[in-house]
Amino acid sequence: MERSLTKETPSLVGTTVKLQGWVENLRILSKVSFLDLRDRSGKVQCIAEFKLEDLTIESVVEIEGEVIKRPEKMVKEGSETGTVEIQIKSYKVLNKAAALPIPVAGDGYDINEESRLKYRYLDLRRDRLSKNLKLRSDFVRAVRESLYNQGFVEVETPMLTAPTKEGARDFIVPSRMQPGKFYALPQSPQQYKQLLMAAGVENYFQVARCVRDENLRADRGFEHTQIDVETSFRTQEEVRAVMEKMVKESIKAVKGNIKPGDFPVLTYKEVIEKFGDDKFDIRTEEEKEKGILAFAWVTRYPMFKKVDKEDIAEVRDGKSGWTFTHNPFSGTIAEHKEWHLKGEHLDEIEATQYDLVCNGFEMGSGSVRNHDPELLRATYKIMGYSPEETEASIGHMLKAFELGTPPHGGMALGIDRLVMLLAGEKSLKEVIPFPMTYSGNTSVMDAPIEAKPEQLKDLGIKVEK
Ligand code: ASP
Repeated sequence: MERSLTKETPSLVGTTVKLQGWVENLRILSKVSFLDLRDRSGKVQCIAEFKLEDLTIESVVEIEGEVIKRPEKMVKEGSETGTVEIQIKSYKVLNKAAALPIPVAGDGYDINEESRLKYRYLDLRRDRLSKNLKLRSDFVRAVRESLYNQGFVEVETPMLTAPTKEGARDFIVPSRMQPGKFYALPQSPQQYKQLLMAAGVENYFQVARCVRDENLRADRGFEHTQIDVETSFRTQEEVRAVMEKMVKESIKAVKGNIKPGDFPVLTYKEVIEKFGDDKFDIRTEEEKEKGILAFAWVTRYPMFKKVDKEDIAEVRDGKSGWTFTHNPFSGTIAEHKEWHLKGEHLDEIEATQYDLVCNGFEMGSGSVRNHDPELLRATYKIMGYSPEETEASIGHMLKAFELGTPPHGGMALGIDRLVMLLAGEKSLKEVIPFPMTYSGNTSVMDAPIEAKPEQLKDLGIKVEK
C-alpha cells in the first residue's frame, strides 16, 4: 500500500490508509489508546482498541487503519484533520525513541540554548521551527523566481579562494598540496561577481554563503546567506529597482506584510540628522503592532572613513589610517572623482553606495562599482597600499578592468534577518537550521576541534599552545 499524508486523510474517509510519521502524543487507557501521528504535512488522531504499549513519544511508526468521520460535535476546530480519525488496524515501530533530552512539543523558547543546539534535529521537529524552515525555503524560491523573471542567471562561485574584503577577518584554510599556503573562505562573492560582469554575464545572482571572522553577537554566527546580485549597464536607480521588485514580489509570495508604495530614498546625511543612525525605523506605532515591514533606501554614503583602532580587520585594511566604509570596489559620485584620484577631501568623498534598511535593521548593501582601474588604484593608495601591494591584492581586477568590463553594480540582501522578521522571530538563530553558539561552536556536531597530528603533518603546520 502506498503511503498517504495525514493532511490527505479528510478526503479518504471510508478507506484504509497507510501513514508513517512520529508519535506526537500518546494516551494509553485500559481498553483504548490514542495517538497523534505527525508527518511533514500535519497531524491526525489515531485510535487503537488495544494498548499501544511498546510506543513512546517521538517514535517513528507506520500505521494501517481506516479513516473514520468524527461525529459532528467532536470535530476539532482549527485542525486540518479535525473532522476525521484513524481506526488503527495494525502498526509497526520503525524507530523507537528513547527518553527525550528536550521536549519537541511547545514553542521551545524556554529550553536552554545549549540543549536546543545539541539536539537541533529534535528542536527542528517542533511546529514553530519546521514552519520557519519552510518559510525560508518558500522565500528563497520566490526570490529565485523574481530574479529569473527579470532575466538573471544563477552562478556559483568558489568557496576556497583568495581574500575579498568586506571589513572582517578572513577564515583561512591551509593547502596540503602547497604547504605553507592558504586559501580564504569568501567574505562575499564580490570579486567573482564583478569578474562575471567582465565575462559578459550581465545579470548574475547567487544564494551565497559568506564567512566572516567577526566578533560574535548573541544571535550571529560566522556564516550567513545572502542573495548576491550584480548587473551591468544599469544606473544606480535601475539596480535598486531590480532589488525592490524582487523584495516586494518575494515578500508577497510568502504573504508577508509590507508597507505599500515605493521604498523611500534618503541620503546618509539626512538619516544621520533625523535618526542619528543609518539603521532606522520608519514605522508608526500602529505599523509596528501590525508587524509591517517598512523598507527604505539610504544613498550617498561616504566612501572612506577613519580606521577604528579597536577593529583589527580595519587596522589591517587601512594602513594609512583611512579605510573604505562599505566596499573597496564601490564607485564615487561623478563630482568627487577628482578628489578621489588625488586623495583629497577624503572625509567628503561620496560613494555610489546604497543600503536597504527595514524596521531598524540593515538588510542589504550594494553599490555601482568603480570599473576604472585608475580610480580603483587610487582607493588602495588612499588606504595606504603601495603599488606592489595593490597589484598583489587586486591585480586581477585591475587587469579585467583593462580588458572590456562594462559599467556594473549590485547588491547583497541578507536572508537570515529578513526571514527572521517575516517569521516574527527575535533571533536569527530561530531561522537558521544549524546555528552556531555564542562561543563559536557548531550545533549537533562538534567543531572546532583539534586537528589530528597526521593532518597537521600533511599541512606542514605546528600548533603553538
Ligand atoms: N559585497 C557586498 C556584501 O557582501 C554587497 C555588495 O556590494 O554587493 O556586503
